[in-house]
Amino acid sequence: MAPNSPRIVVLPGDGIGAEVTDSALTVLEAVQRRVPAAALDLVHLDAGAGTYLETGSALPDNVIEAIRGADGVLLGAMGLPDVRYPDGTEIIPQIELRMIFGLYAGVRPIRLLPGAPTPLGDARAAGLDFVIIRESTEGLFAHMNDGTVEDDEVAEDRMVITRATSERLFDFSFRLAQQRKAAGHPGKVTLVDKANVFKSMAFFRKIFDERAEAFPDIATDRQYVDAAALNFVRNPWDYDVVVTENMFGDILSDLGAGLIGGMGMAPSADIGDDTAVFQPSHGTAPDIVGTGKANPTAMILSVVLLLEWLATQDRGAAFGEAARLLDVAVCAAYADGALVPYEAGGSDGTAAILKRILENL
Ligand code: ATP
Repeated sequence: MAPNSPRIVVLPGDGIGAEVTDSALTVLEAVQRRVPAAALDLVHLDAGAGTYLETGSALPDNVIEAIRGADGVLLGAMGLPDVRYPDGTEIIPQIELRMIFGLYAGVRPIRLLPGAPTPLGDARAAGLDFVIIRESTEGLFAHMNDGTVEDDEVAEDRMVITRATSERLFDFSFRLAQQRKAAGHPGKVTLVDKANVFKSMAFFRKIFDERAEAFPDIATDRQYVDAAALNFVRNPWDYDVVVTENMFGDILSDLGAGLIGGMGMAPSADIGDDTAVFQPSHGTAPDIVGTGKANPTAMILSVVLLLEWLATQDRGAAFGEAARLLDVAVCAAYADGALVPYEAGGSDGTAAILKRILENL
């Protein structure tokens, strides 16, 4: 490894998180044999529900410190339904990480790999390729730990939108649309909100309109979230970059994953100004853990996002080359239509999918 290789903290987490992380690390080693200059200094640590059971902390201080000293994080999935804090809430350190490190831009690519299964029966689905940017530090999650229930009669949570985060979020989205436009995409950002009902959402839209003026080369659209849900199913090829509030993004990105074959196909990156966390969009899938049915594709495509991001952070062109090679290999694995993951009704699990991707490297 080169002395100044980027340092990446690896947190496999719980449930299928560990299974798909194993596959991702195997693939990463294979890519690095092809591109030795894309070396990483991997720091393997534990966090999540299992760590909470063992140590009393789901996100120990040494993990937070390691992330502070690292370039980025590769994370499997965290949380188990029956391991909870004493107040009954779920253990979700991956969401705490977004708050602690200001990872405001949740990047969720919705790209249908040619040959991969999809419930969309329209020929236009073949070119489906858009990106959801889910704001990931505020919105309805801003006060996720301090909602109230009064006298067992009234429960309240709060929505928070700040100018500072919204401006950074929209600028990030417009810059992404510019990069995509340079690569042949339409160059459009669609804001998804509920500005017709909520003050916070009208404010969100006002800031979007202000920031849009700084990017005259990018087209804009605005949709209410209910209409967007309909359109995601009916005309998903209309989108290029979609930017939205935290909770709306949480819901719409699962809908998007459904369009491209399921949770096992949907990667993600949570990006801030100082660091970033790369993880599949899915959770720990307790219903299939240990069965060999977990699809590692989302996790492996999250490694592609990590390598691409390192290239944009001026860590060397080798990372861009490694990202491209790995992406081509994942696409090639699905191209002939023979690979059908369990989640899409087929019989290809972790080992078979990993094998196909390695063969194509
Ligand atoms: P979270 O709230 O942490 O996002 P969740 O409870 O919404 O998690 P997931 O763990 O993502 O849900 O699982 C949702 C469904 O998708 C489950 O039926 C699970 O088996 C399936 N699933 C999730 N990830 C994968 C995967 N990688 N491969 C196959 N199936 C998966």
